[in-house]
Amino acid sequence: KLTIGVLAIQGGFIEHSHALRQCDAVERVVEFTNAKEMAAQPLDGIVLPGGESSAMAVLLESFDLLEPLRAYVRAGKAVWGTCAGMILLSDSIKHAKLGGQSLVGGLHATTVRNAFGRQKESFIATLDVPDVVLADREKPFRAVFIRAPIIESVGDDVRVLARVVRPSAPPDAEPDIVAVRQDRILATSFHPELTRDIRFHEYFCRMVAGEV
Ligand code: GLN
Repeated sequence: KLTIGVLAIQGGFIEHSHALRQCDAVERVVEFTNAKEMAAQPLDGIVLPGGESSAMAVLLESFDLLEPLRAYVRAGKAVWGTCAGMILLSDSIKHAKLGGQSLVGGLHATTVRNAFGRQKESFIATLDVPDVVLADREKPFRAVFIRAPIIESVGDDVRVLARVVRPSAPPDAEPDIVAVRQDRILATSFHPELTRDIRFHEYFCRMVAGEV
């Protein structure tokens, strides 16, 4: 059974912990706020939640978490970033705060912050996700986008898991990339932890366990 760490300095970490605790594969969820807590026990996988990536970046530095998280990703351990977490995992971002913001990096992608507009442009969309990800593909996956990023371009080793057509898009618009997997890195620009559908959390657990 798995021990999953959840970065708990800012944003929607409680919701992730709650969803992870519902997964059969999970033995223990460890919320950590600093390097000492992160290192207190071996973590099979780590979730970086949604929130505000520029604020998180500042806090990661002051709580000495930036380097440990970079080392964790570099070591090939499993990590999942949702929304702001996806931004943090990206190697490069657009619309960074003036002066830039620190990143954990590791995901070979260029990610655009706040790509769908402001908070009030938040929306829910039904996604088509491959059945390796979703146990029961018949059941539509409803994804919550809140001031979400999109992935603009990816490296050759990054697999696109889901795209979405933005609500305001013209009919011939290319759907935007909103979920990717690169080896043991999973990134989603939406928030599975804000719904009762735990299939993405279950997929992450299978990824952590090396089953997918
Ligand atoms: N807009 C936020 C950012 O740029 C992300 C929003 C979210 O995590 N829901 O960091």
